Amino acid sequence: MLCPACREVMIVVEQDKIELDHCTSCAGVWFDAGELELMLERMGLDRGALSLAKIADLPDAETAEKKRRCPVCGKKMKKTHIGQEPEVLIDVCLRGDGLWFDGGEIGQIIEQCAAKSGTEMDAENRVLCFLGDTFKAEG
Ligand SMILES: [Zn+2]
Ligand SMILES: [Zn+2]
Repeated sequence: MLCPACREVMIVVEQDKIELDHCTSCAGVWFDAGELELMLERMGLDRGALSLAKIADLPDAETAEKKRRCPVCGKKMKKTHIGQEPEVLIDVCLRGDGLWFDGGEIGQIIEQCAAKSGTEMDAENRVLCFLGDTFKAEG
């Protein structure tokens, strides 16, 4: 699969049997819809806690950032915010293919999780922390 941000070929990384596509060039990561649900399940969370449909229903983010095309269907993705302090701007395919996190966003997620460790986290934050754990090792 090609990176929606820089068009490089992405590599597959595996964490807890969940496969994510990762661009080593821009450090972004793509989540297939099924992988997101699988992850929620493995964490013992309700599949609906952070479903793609729920994310697709969130309000559009107001941003000057350019819209990206879904690496699966090629359609323009919607931008929306998840998480808090700071919110993370993600791209979501409205046809339900998956989600895209930019490399800089993963960095924000890691910081956010470090700040939250030890406190009670909701499903959204647990997902973000899972991502943070996966990509922490890479500078
Ligand atoms: Zn890239
Ligand atoms: Zn798509």
